Amino acid sequence: MPEHRFANAPLLVYWEVTRACDLACRHCRAEAMPARHPDELTTDEGFRLLDALTAFRPQPHIVFTGGDPLKRPDLFAWIERAVALGFRTAITPSGTYALTREVVHRFKAAGVWMMAVSVDGSTAERHDAIRQVPGSFDQTMRAICWAQEINLPIQVNTLVCAETYDDVPAVGRLLVELGVSRWSVFFLVPTGRGRVLGDISPHQAETLLTWLYTFSRTAPFDIKTTEAHHYRRIALQQSDRQDPAQRERLAVVRRGFTIRDGAGIMFISHVGEIYPAGFLPVPVGNVRTHDPVAVYRADPLFVALRDPDRFRGKCGLCEYRIVCGGSRARAYALTGDPLESDPLCLYQPPAWPERSAVA
Ligand code: SF4
Repeated sequence: MPEHRFANAPLLVYWEVTRACDLACRHCRAEAMPARHPDELTTDEGFRLLDALTAFRPQPHIVFTGGDPLKRPDLFAWIERAVALGFRTAITPSGTYALTREVVHRFKAAGVWMMAVSVDGSTAERHDAIRQVPGSFDQTMRAICWAQEINLPIQVNTLVCAETYDDVPAVGRLLVELGVSRWSVFFLVPTGRGRVLGDISPHQAETLLTWLYTFSRTAPFDIKTTEAHHYRRIALQQSDRQDPAQRERLAVVRRGFTIRDGAGIMFISHVGEIYPAGFLPVPVGNVRTHDPVAVYRADPLFVALRDPDRFRGKCGLCEYRIVCGGSRARAYALTGDPLESDPLCLYQPPAWPERSAVA
């Protein structure tokens, strides 16, 4: 297997600057609480982390996430340092009343490249039922408008689980009206509070991902999936049946196809632990005691996650394992082994000995 494209540097470093948040989302990976954890990284430790990450070449993008990053009073100092060091930065604030017009404009002034917000329902009733705070939907809609006033690109993240499944197409149509830049459709991994929400079946996932691909052909924004990498397999299968222009477009998209947990992605927790991804909470070091660059490049788990020939079960034999490889986080959450197959994928690779007829 040739060296992975992201063997030396991730494309995305997610830094969970705090787990504090005033929302109580039913699917929260971080199991966020209103108060900050006493052992969060200090301001100076955060500066040192940013300095350490400059050793990556090319420089990754840094996503300031949480919890609600706005709970950290030193957030803007870190953003400004990251921008001054040359990192492209994004921010994922929670849809609370702390996310004011002034704050959104300040993100832009500080050099933030993109703001990501969550829209988990096509109506206030459906969204707020997931977020468990009335008014969250309306505040998020206002924040999107404030970002558009200043041409700050918006990514919308949408949760897919049993409770939201039927509403996802309506969310997509809402985003067309809103004029966002990117839609990230997140297929629930049962970690944190997400364990209490319902899973969808592999058949439902296949149906929704196929719809998503069809929708992507006319949607005026980029679409990506989170923890449903087999969208790439479906896109390639569908594109074989499409026109040459569509195949050309996919060839460009394909350059990012090899990204997945630990391969192009690294996650730093609120207390400095280093994970292959936020939904794959296996600590392999701590930035207080380890060089995050060395951990990303050489830790055995990171190295294994970048080698799809080491995946087990049907993912390890699948002809799409390089571009897809399945969700390592879901494999870990449901089997305890991050190299196992992704249970949400319906596909039966021809090389898989247990292949059976698929309805
Ligand atoms: S079997 Fe695994 S590698 Fe193949 S398409 Fe499904 S999730 Fe991806």
